[in-house]
Amino acid sequence: MQYRRLGRTGLQLSALSFGAWVTFGRQVGRSEARDMLALAWDRGINFFDNAETYNHGEAERLMGDVLADLRFPRDSYCVSSKVYFGSAEKPRPTQRGLSRKHVIEACNQALERLRVGHLDLYFCHRPDPETPLEETVAAMDTLVRQGKVLYWGTSEWPATAIHEAHRIAQAMHMYAPVVEQPQYNLLHRERVEHEYAPLYASYGMGTTIWSPLASGLLSGKYSQGVPQGSRLMQPGYEWLREMVLGEGGERVEKVRELPVIAAELGATPAQLAIAWCLANPNVSTVLLGASKKEQLEQNLGALELLPRFDLGLKERIERALA
Ligand code: NDP
Repeated sequence: MQYRRLGRTGLQLSALSFGAWVTFGRQVGRSEARDMLALAWDRGINFFDNAETYNHGEAERLMGDVLADLRFPRDSYCVSSKVYFGSAEKPRPTQRGLSRKHVIEACNQALERLRVGHLDLYFCHRPDPETPLEETVAAMDTLVRQGKVLYWGTSEWPATAIHEAHRIAQAMHMYAPVVEQPQYNLLHRERVEHEYAPLYASYGMGTTIWSPLASGLLSGKYSQGVPQGSRLMQPGYEWLREMVLGEGGERVEKVRELPVIAAELGATPAQLAIAWCLANPNVSTVLLGASKKEQLEQNLGALELLPRFDLGLKERIERALA
């Protein structure tokens, strides 16, 4: 495994990490979760990502149970949660958003579900137009001072809002966000490559990037239609199917040549797509998702491909996508 600093912090995260969205508590039960977390751990992954909203808290409960069962030393891994969306089972207005009340209560609930004394990373899952930014920054600062959160960050915030959070934190002598969690993959780049560029330079922010495979599309698995049991067939995720495949399936067409390039390198398309993300030095860690142990095993192989990422290969991929 390779380790990278989370931006300018002293925290060393594994370049590949592992998240629970869609999978934990839905496609993945206890024994599969145990197998995958054990495999991740054995291969040096030290960051496990979660959120209050993933399967209504079930993803955190399952991860917490399995981590406790596996007895990894607590100081050897990092775990995260995210606050904002709440949970479909908790519909009241105080049970979502980034108010001081919800930020603090959601943290306490995540600690309980994950069975840990602190969250290493805690993200504001989206910006909340209904809460003054000063209130959210102050709530995060409180949690850091209480030792319940070690580092806080944002997820999919506009760069302008992150600048503002830094301004407020500096003016009020509070802890500022040190990490963003944006989507980043071969088909989704603008934010990480352009909009956020000043954030790396000005504040040394790190990134924990999500959906490196565009929910599986970049593995090539949708080239012959959508397989039963796959993410895009999950009930309740119909919205994701159109987003990932495109209205007329045009995104499937766009990535048709990637398997050819991958095969020439003796790799799989998933490994190629993940290694492409790793080749961006502003990526602190690539969050992997997997519904099966074999996928995780395969995706970990992306690290071996990384040294082969030169300008020629990058240009070849650009031409294939054009
Ligand atoms: P990916 O884009 O890598 O998608 C993962 C899914 O793709 C798997 O669950 C599996 O789905 C399929 N897959 C993975 N590997 C392979 C393979 N080798 N061959 C074929 N299919 C494969 O990542 P995610 O979208 O899961 O994102 C990773 C993590 O990022 C999440 O778990 C979560 O922690 C975080 N995240 C954060 C968000 C945010 O807003 N902050 C939003 C989304 C994710 P299947 O087998 O079901 O088809």
